[in-house]
Amino acid sequence: MNSGEYWNPVLETLPREKLQQLQLKKFKSILKWAYENSPFYRSLYKGAGLEPGDIKTLDDITKVPKTEKAMLREAQGKEPYPYGSILSVPIEQVTEYRQTSGTTGQPVYHPETWQDWDWSAESWAYALYAQGYRDYDRVFLPFGYSVNIAFWAGHYAAEKIGCEVVPGGVLDTEARILKMKELKATALMATPTYILGMADTARKKLGLDPAKDLNIKKITAAGEPGACIPATKKRMEEMWGAKVYDQIGATEIGHWGFECQAQAGLHILEAFHLVEIEDIETGATITEPGKKGSMVITTFDRFAHPCIRFDSKDVIEWNPVEKCECGRTFRRLKGGVVGRADDITKVKGVLLAPTAIEEVVRSIPELGDEYEVTVTKKGDIDDITLKMEIAPDFKGNIEAVEPKLVQQLRLKTGLRYNLEFHNYGTLPRYGVKAKRFKDLRHKE
Ligand SMILES: [Zn+2]
Repeated sequence: MNSGEYWNPVLETLPREKLQQLQLKKFKSILKWAYENSPFYRSLYKGAGLEPGDIKTLDDITKVPKTEKAMLREAQGKEPYPYGSILSVPIEQVTEYRQTSGTTGQPVYHPETWQDWDWSAESWAYALYAQGYRDYDRVFLPFGYSVNIAFWAGHYAAEKIGCEVVPGGVLDTEARILKMKELKATALMATPTYILGMADTARKKLGLDPAKDLNIKKITAAGEPGACIPATKKRMEEMWGAKVYDQIGATEIGHWGFECQAQAGLHILEAFHLVEIEDIETGATITEPGKKGSMVITTFDRFAHPCIRFDSKDVIEWNPVEKCECGRTFRRLKGGVVGRADDITKVKGVLLAPTAIEEVVRSIPELGDEYEVTVTKKGDIDDITLKMEIAPDFKGNIEAVEPKLVQQLRLKTGLRYNLEFHNYGTLPRYGVKAKRFKDLRHKE
């Protein structure tokens, strides 16, 4: 019998030392499991001369070879079909098929046993509870229920808490909005791009103001950066008259980070995962705040398709270790995932994160939500063009915002841009996840 309470006062407020002991114990246990049950992991570790017993302290874990998406892809498509040698349980125990979205190539197949799937929902439940989801909530899920993981575990997690879950699967955007209105739904989960897009559709096509005409009080935003970018979060919260919480996970990893009601950075679900941050250029481990790096993550307690020291390429930065006002001791990240290591490119010798540009564009009320960044080469010199849309209700002279824009971009990114202002509605629109950064330097 489930009480629907996902606040574990022991686990979630463990002192640092105790939490690290727990993490070490769980790390050793999943490492041993993978070594004994997955031919892929056994051969990877044997190749590196590593035995599970070699790991005695948390400092030892950097001896464990990392994994990355390309390795997972290469291992799949073979027996036991289609998961290949990573599969660590008899295939009869697999109850769920999911896959990655394939935005960076061939999708990675992901199997779960019923126990693993329950774990996935459980880890989401801790996050939703921290965001104030309770049994009286009516939660609307406007996503395409399909082969991609998307909000599937969010659906099951909300049910575990005792919420009433409304699956808004094949409905179109207008029908979803009308259904939310009709049922007085109180909560919603979607990607930031879709959250902004839905509000736009509500106003333009249906003449509804989501902040006044709908009853949504909280929104869990996942799938891309957005809720971690202050200006984007503010736009979403104002449009919906709701609190917006950042949440993050990936098909291969599971759900690993969430913002709580204090909205003070992204808590890592440390009882379920071990996060390391690596310097993008040197590969050294970063343990202190003040420097961004690429995430290497291990998932505990999920056994069919182990995820051990997975190089996720998410760019993150530690927050100082201090107790959050919510009471949880799980360590937080400053902001959230600020980009992908693949997207963080050197432009004119400066490391540029596209999210920093978004933060500037969306903090200027005269501009719309859409923008596009293109990097090209003029001779030997990098050239960056930033296209923006003028806000639909802005009637003044847009050139007047240019000095403020130039100054903010210099401050946040250290770079100069060719600025182009376009009429509202002329830049490409994206349904679920946006692709606004285009690096064309190596494509000529
Ligand atoms: Zn908190």
